[in-house]
Amino acid sequence: MRTSQPQTIYLSEYRVPAYLVDTVDLRFELFENGARVHSTLEVRRNPESDAGEVPLELDGDSLILESVALNGAPLGDADFENRGDKLIIGPVPAKFELSVVTWIEPQNNTRLEGLYKSSGMFCSQCEAEGFRCITFFPDRPDVMSRFRTRIEADKGAYPILLSNGNDVDRGDLDDGRHYVIWEDPFPKPCYLFALVAGDLVEKRDTFKTGSGRDIDLRMYVEPRNAEKCDHAMDSLKRSMRWDEEVYGREYDLDIFMIVAVDDFNMGAMENKGLNIFNSSCVLASQETATDLAFQRIEAIVAHEYFHNWSGNRVTCRDWFQLSLKEGFTVFRDSQFSADMGSPTVKRIEDVTLLRTAQFAEDGGPMAHPVRPASYMEISNFYTLTIYEKGAEVVRMIYTLLGPDMFRKGSDLYFERHDGQAVTTDDFVKAMEDASGRDLSQFRLWYEQAGTPVLSVSDEYDSERGIYRLTVEQSVPDTPGQKAKKPQHIPFALGLLGARGESLPLRLEPESQDAPTERVLELTDTCHTFEFHGINERPVPSLLRDFSAPVRVRYSWTREQMLFLMSHDPDGFNRWDAGQRLAVDVIQSLVGAPKDAPVDARLVAAYRQLISDSSLDQALVAKMLQLPSEAYLIELAESADVPAIHKARERVLKHLAIALRSELVACYRRNLEEGAYQVTPDQIARRSLRNTALAWLLQINDEEGRELALRQFKESDNMTDRISALRALVNSDYEADRSEVLTDFYARFQDDPQVVEQWFSVQASSDRAGQLPEIHALLEHKAFDWKNPNKVRSVVGAFAGQNLAAFHNPDGSGYDFLADQVCRLDDSNPQIAARLVTPLTRWRKFAPSYSNRMKAAIERIRDKPDLSRDVYEVVHKSLA
Ligand code: ZN
Repeated sequence: MRTSQPQTIYLSEYRVPAYLVDTVDLRFELFENGARVHSTLEVRRNPESDAGEVPLELDGDSLILESVALNGAPLGDADFENRGDKLIIGPVPAKFELSVVTWIEPQNNTRLEGLYKSSGMFCSQCEAEGFRCITFFPDRPDVMSRFRTRIEADKGAYPILLSNGNDVDRGDLDDGRHYVIWEDPFPKPCYLFALVAGDLVEKRDTFKTGSGRDIDLRMYVEPRNAEKCDHAMDSLKRSMRWDEEVYGREYDLDIFMIVAVDDFNMGAMENKGLNIFNSSCVLASQETATDLAFQRIEAIVAHEYFHNWSGNRVTCRDWFQLSLKEGFTVFRDSQFSADMGSPTVKRIEDVTLLRTAQFAEDGGPMAHPVRPASYMEISNFYTLTIYEKGAEVVRMIYTLLGPDMFRKGSDLYFERHDGQAVTTDDFVKAMEDASGRDLSQFRLWYEQAGTPVLSVSDEYDSERGIYRLTVEQSVPDTPGQKAKKPQHIPFALGLLGARGESLPLRLEPESQDAPTERVLELTDTCHTFEFHGINERPVPSLLRDFSAPVRVRYSWTREQMLFLMSHDPDGFNRWDAGQRLAVDVIQSLVGAPKDAPVDARLVAAYRQLISDSSLDQALVAKMLQLPSEAYLIELAESADVPAIHKARERVLKHLAIALRSELVACYRRNLEEGAYQVTPDQIARRSLRNTALAWLLQINDEEGRELALRQFKESDNMTDRISALRALVNSDYEADRSEVLTDFYARFQDDPQVVEQWFSVQASSDRAGQLPEIHALLEHKAFDWKNPNKVRSVVGAFAGQNLAAFHNPDGSGYDFLADQVCRLDDSNPQIAARLVTPLTRWRKFAPSYSNRMKAAIERIRDKPDLSRDVYEVVHKSLA
């Protein structure tokens, strides 16, 4: 075990920095055996600090210090203290120039923080605390500086040298080397610094801003990826236009660059003027990327671009405020995606992620508020709570204020705080000041962890024509937080009459022209609302469009669910009613005898959905997806995963058998006409067709098998090809399975992004992804422990998606994951800590499982020299 315990950092201990850095002048000498970094800082005492004449403390990590000079005079060992993680210099004058030279080894950097090498190129990742792996610096976001960066490298191997801002000079040096100098006029925190050096091809485009400026758009990728840039470039232009139109935000530099790198811990990074992307989140072509990937790329390109305002121009004061930029930016990118496609479908996708994964996080050992009060390792806090719940919180402000006031609020926020490092409270304050609304109770959404529960009950008074709805809220205890206060919750609802008509919602007996939908505001523990003039018992449609990230408890009958499924004018709630019905049916079969009947009404409802082509096909495609195992587990009290898996499979097979001919018809009806396009309509058709195919193969249908084999061979796009592959892999046709897997690999082996998909289709399949096969995948020549995408596509897919195999009652899945976490802990602690997640949820499972999961976690805990990242996660999970 580690000898020194990692320290906890508290928001309450925040102090303004004692020193500020106005300018940073960097010179990088890049070599094959390392890099020398010359850094010169203009430092001055912070007038807002009351720390006095304290020594200057700079952060560092894995640096070899070569020299330090103050105002040009070299310092001796007695003038500073190098503790490794801190360089302490002092006493120092009130204003001075500090020069530090460090030596680093990017080629040996497997953590992928700081400067590292990926497929032969140099690239950097500084958020959150990677800059300290490059040079000694006050590595905190409230220190904002103007950067000038000179990069020197071999010209043949690294013709492209990039950093933030504008390139102001370049030239040749001796020994075949060259240099480029970049200047970024906007002061920024060091986490937004970036550097890239490599042999890359450049794709160019331009964008004319609303005010008429021409922006140079450039993408840099490895030569083999030159044909996979168009979609990202188009997405970028759409994002730039959208942010001008919807938020009034224009781009501010003359150049905007995107670089694709294969080895990357996260999805992408919003470095000022130089966004760096995980290849899998930016490169796409019809033949190699699925519809899902196309949509994801559009969303991530937009997300990173939008950060230029929500994150870069206005940044975070400290890392407790991470959701200031992430929650707001996710909200912005979800609005953008909704505008580009189907808003209802986008909402369904967002809520599915939230309810499956964020609710699980909020109910688990790592539960934390949107603005955490403490952390050990900030990398562990790039969570679904910060991102997705944070976006929901912003969305609720939008709902409460309405679009116009919200826009006023965001204008005020950007104007008031441009160039500053601020807090989530500043954001809420701007919204309050612009709208005149009081959001003091609303702020609890940032402070209290846990998913609020709304218990709804109703009663109908037929004599007086009153429908009474009582809503009680409670926020569950979470680690370190008990006895919570009621929160301010926007609760959208409607009432439906017997023929499906929307009833006017009269809160006063004589009110006229009442709306048929209202956003009620819950602020107390319990509210009762009376609706007048109701002539029959209505069916309530609650929490429309998922107006708040809460759980709703109400005892819907199956009849009511079926009714809402076909009548609710709110598309989201229509879908949700169908989900609720399917959940109810599956749950009733968990642990039930083999021959327990499946409710015939579910079959009838699905038959209606598949056959009625007048319905919105994009919504139908979503409605046909049965709730995932992960969601069913999240809903369970004490989950028995193999039993849940069986019950779900049973329902799926029952539906497939009963609807066989409709499925075949659905497949044929949705066969593509015309050229492949990523439009909502075509996406829906492919999704419907491929769902039909997957279901047919679950019941060993010969016609389905032939359709799948043909589609696999003949399709001209990855969505159809991989859907056919997945359907066959998940079927009982063993010979076909191995044939298509071999064929697919042979065709795409030179494309890492496709090979990743090939890995994950197998690792997430209960047929092809049992432990022996997983071990074989790890031995495969295309597998690479140093590449996070490969690790995620095998180990992550197995533990996160192949749930029945992972939760094998003998505990072998848990032991396997523990082994891989220990192995990765030394090379890449960030990835190791993320992989542990499924095990940390051990309390959620039935005792025979949870005991084994806990034992696996304890084994990780006892590994010598555990990283701070994994330490925090396992200790919190065992606490
Ligand atoms: Zn972000």
